[in-house]
Amino acid sequence: MAQYKIETHLHTAEGSKCGWATGCEQAEARFMEGYSTIIVTDHFFRGNTRPERSLPWEEYVEQFCSGYEHAKERGDEIGLTVLFGLEDNYQGSEFLIYGLDKDWLKKNPGMREWTPWQEYEHVHGDGGYMVQAHPFREASYLFGFGLYPMFTDAVEGINAAQTKAMNDRAVWYAKQFDKPMTAGSDIHGISNVGGGILSPHPIRTIEDYINMIRNREDYELIEIHRPDKAPGGPPGADYFAKIEKQKAEMKAFADAAAAKLREGR
Ligand SMILES: [Zn+2]
Ligand SMILES: [Zn+2]
Repeated sequence: MAQYKIETHLHTAEGSKCGWATGCEQAEARFMEGYSTIIVTDHFFRGNTRPERSLPWEEYVEQFCSGYEHAKERGDEIGLTVLFGLEDNYQGSEFLIYGLDKDWLKKNPGMREWTPWQEYEHVHGDGGYMVQAHPFREASYLFGFGLYPMFTDAVEGINAAQTKAMNDRAVWYAKQFDKPMTAGSDIHGISNVGGGILSPHPIRTIEDYINMIRNREDYELIEIHRPDKAPGGPPGADYFAKIEKQKAEMKAFADAAAAKLREGR
């Protein structure tokens, strides 16, 4: 049976301060790894967002969406489906939001102040879907866990940037509240992580994705966790040389795919 690999949690350098690969590079890298669909979920205004928060709202939103747009542009050329999402932050808790678009963000400057319950109401009212991301994430700047089962549709059960223990808790939490689960890499660069979802059907629109999760269709969560021990020390020059080589390889791979697609048209 054919399986389609979906990345549901991905950051770009244009939208996220912690992202270090452009939307274009993200599309090339994930395509080369065999993903058929990626959903760009950059950190929005209250999270680790890239554009200046002092910008006029419309301009902020334009810059925020540019990572997705660059990924989509490259995706269209090479045959990778690129969909839009965002990751919002409320007092340290994060939510992956799917099914909305740039115009919706522009019309909702008030979302900078929304509580999870207000956000849920608005997102739902307009056909969106809200997933609690890595509910048991731990970090030096977090002082607890903010869980909002009444105001989320699903739970990210496996986040490849969390340890197995943290993901086990997330799976437990989803089961406690009978929520469907998602999985994602929470990927910020071009290096391979390999997380996400395996679907027996292609996911071509964000509605395809939302319906798959909501209806608990026959999809599979990819089990990848962060090792308990972080690798030691800052990367050396050889690491950066490797990255440059990798970038050249994935660009060549993507160019070849784009040429083939053009010929077929
Ligand atoms: Zn991040
Ligand atoms: Zn994230």
